[in-house]
Amino acid sequence: MTRRLVCASANPGKVAELAALLEGIVVFEPRPLDVPDVVEDAPTLEGNAELKARAIADATGIAALADDTGLEVDALNGAPGVRSARFAGEPSDDAANRRLLLERLEGVEHRSARFRTVMCVVDPAGGVAFAEGVCEGTIGTRDRGERGFGYDAIFIPADGDGRTFAEMNAAEKNAISHRSRALQALLQRLKAG
Ligand code: IMP
Repeated sequence: MTRRLVCASANPGKVAELAALLEGIVVFEPRPLDVPDVVEDAPTLEGNAELKARAIADATGIAALADDTGLEVDALNGAPGVRSARFAGEPSDDAANRRLLLERLEGVEHRSARFRTVMCVVDPAGGVAFAEGVCEGTIGTRDRGERGFGYDAIFIPADGDGRTFAEMNAAEKNAISHRSRALQALLQRLKAG
């Protein structure tokens, strides 16, 4: 099992969650500052997760961990999905993405949605492993909560108590999140292999 993992993400919200989840399991190293951002232009979450992990594994010679996450809204036929980061355009803007999603759902009663995370480890020796995690929920009607990042302030997880992810503390979110589920599945896979 890998002992050192380099983080392929520069998103501070994600990095904090991953570091908390991996504490005591592997030595989790930050993304090197001198590696340019990867263009996430694959058509799938799997493709983008692998692009990010491979770029960092190639640059460092150490196994790299990346995740790619999409928010799938049923009333929008699964959008924004793989385009979640740039839903409201470039550059990526969390508040603008949430505003646009609320606008698209104005007057819509059926607000079910899910976060889907694909987690990928690329080993510089050539191995690659994937795992997926899903968190079902609904989209609220306004921002609630100050914590978290991205779409957290409008996502109400089904396994929670009615609060949005942004109203939960880190441990509460990590206990049920798509990211922690994907990471647990990936760790199981790496242990088994
Ligand atoms: P990416 O995986 O970094 O490409 O993220 C895609 C989009 O989903 C970005 O807009 C992120 O801010 C958002 N996102 C990713 N993970 C989460 C999460 O756990 N909560 C809320 N938004 C997220």
